[in-house]
Amino acid sequence: MPELAAYAVDDGCSRGRAIAEPRPKARSEFQRDRDRIVHSTAFRRLEYKTQVFVNHEGDLFRTRLTHSIEVAQIARSVARTLRLNDDLAEAISLAHDLGHTPFGHAGQDALNECMQGQGGFEHNLQSLRIVDRLEERYGAFDGLNLMFETREGILKHCSPARARELGDLGRRFLDNRQPSLEAQICNLADEIAYNNHDVDDGLRSGVLTLEQLQGISLFARHAAEVDAEFPRIAGRRRVHETIRRMIDAQVTDLLAESGRRIAEAAPETLGDVHASPPLIGFSAGMDAENRELKSFLREHLYRHFEVLRMTAKARRVIHDLFGAFVSDPRLLPPQYQAMAAAGTLERATADYIAGMTDRYSMKEHRRLFAVSEF
Ligand code: MG
Repeated sequence: MPELAAYAVDDGCSRGRAIAEPRPKARSEFQRDRDRIVHSTAFRRLEYKTQVFVNHEGDLFRTRLTHSIEVAQIARSVARTLRLNDDLAEAISLAHDLGHTPFGHAGQDALNECMQGQGGFEHNLQSLRIVDRLEERYGAFDGLNLMFETREGILKHCSPARARELGDLGRRFLDNRQPSLEAQICNLADEIAYNNHDVDDGLRSGVLTLEQLQGISLFARHAAEVDAEFPRIAGRRRVHETIRRMIDAQVTDLLAESGRRIAEAAPETLGDVHASPPLIGFSAGMDAENRELKSFLREHLYRHFEVLRMTAKARRVIHDLFGAFVSDPRLLPPQYQAMAAAGTLERATADYIAGMTDRYSMKEHRRLFAVSEF
């Protein structure tokens, strides 16, 4: 393994854990973080949480779990090539969506509406809340007691008001400083993963068509390359061969542009990385192509009437559940009643609902509202 760059995060320069622990024996600190995330309950729940398509709509669509694994794969490769800490990149990637509600962004928006006046709800802050407080696995502390840099990477964005409450971890948002390069990589790996797999899932579902995608330069360019190289290729194989090249092109561009920026800024320490502008990014050309693809997906996939029907239903389920528990807290499982007593009823309810998988939330909804089911 090549030696890490001087400005990479490693055990030695880390700001460590909130609660001091003995060093791990056969792993690095960041390997231990990754392992704690993989063993968490919230991580297992990702298997049954919506990415774009609701889990029961088809077995082959991405879920939050397979999405997170794809993000980790891309982030690890990029980090390793740039001589950064790929264990940290993997840990952040696997944890980045832990706080997602059932039904993807629709679920988050609905829960955020319910929580207005109560501090709101944001999946990114919820991911942090899970690893800092909600997981119950260790005798000595709540949460997973992760390394500072893993938590910093999970907290992608944050309002100034919230940043002030978060103390040390929120500091960089107030001082306008960048997180580690490993965290920056995870943000871009997330984008590369979902833009490309949403094209795949969109085509598979029939919501998107190949004709539409011919108008998108990143897709059209690589599809033409595939057709030239394999004149008889068709169907799913042509789609996969095209998307695989799109991912490769984006990763290759990211490596070249980030390498160029790093060479220009010449950071010598992690502190230099924090003080520099973002050093991980696409070239201007790829950035434009990526934005074109994103806005295409927004218009034709995320706002397609069939997807919006799911969104509307998700919103109703979340609002109904929240309303039922807040108006009669005795309906909450005892563990959440205890959390309500120790904090606020609304926050305990949001924690309960956010932790639900798609199908569990529908089941709870039936239990509470369907007259034929008890
Ligand atoms: Mg994600």
